[in-house]
Amino acid sequence: MIVKDAQFIISAVSEKQYPEGSLPEIAMAGRSNVGKSSFINRMTNRKKLAKTSSKPGRTQTLNYYLINNRFYFVDVPGYGYAAVSKKERRSWGKMIENYLLGRKQLKGVVLLLDIRHEPTGDDCLMYQFLKHCRIPVVVIATKADKISKGKHAKHVKIIREKLQADPEDMVIPFSAETGIGKDEAWKAIENLLD
Ligand code: GDP
Repeated sequence: MIVKDAQFIISAVSEKQYPEGSLPEIAMAGRSNVGKSSFINRMTNRKKLAKTSSKPGRTQTLNYYLINNRFYFVDVPGYGYAAVSKKERRSWGKMIENYLLGRKQLKGVVLLLDIRHEPTGDDCLMYQFLKHCRIPVVVIATKADKISKGKHAKHVKIIREKLQADPEDMVIPFSAETGIGKDEAWKAIENLLD
């Protein structure tokens, strides 16, 4: 996909603020700090479309980005951030669940994991939840520049095994630093949109 136009639309705190209309949506999910913002920026060739941070963020909003006036990337707040209260975690859970289960425009979820680490319990729960709800999912293994290329396949295998990934789901090594995996990721996203 050639991204000609990419715009931040809204940080939605409630359903009422989700954009109207029927444009398809692709959601990004993953632990805080996994590289969701960097993924969005690299995919859209924009340095600062999504705010990156070296500290795990605690944004509890759904951030909407309109791409080519054709579909939205929806950045879902990262999970697994230890410093939020139980109450905050519950309200986060409800918001995400409502969105994932109720949003008709949602075409699929890009689940981001760090290629260097075994998926956590939260990662596995998210993947299994998406499968259970029959929401199409593409797994992106981020920060692939941090391990040698020769090790990518081994790490992908570990991720697949731990997630108990469906053979038909893609696990794509990706680097926001070098652009590795970008074309493959776009192909997978276009498939979700079709
Ligand atoms: P988010 O919380 O999931 O949105 O994560 P960010 O995109 O803000 O990234 C968290 C940190 O990881 C930042 O310091 C990024 O520079 C770094 N990072 C993200 N993606 C990559 C990548 O592909 N390679 C490397 N080396 N660092 C990355």
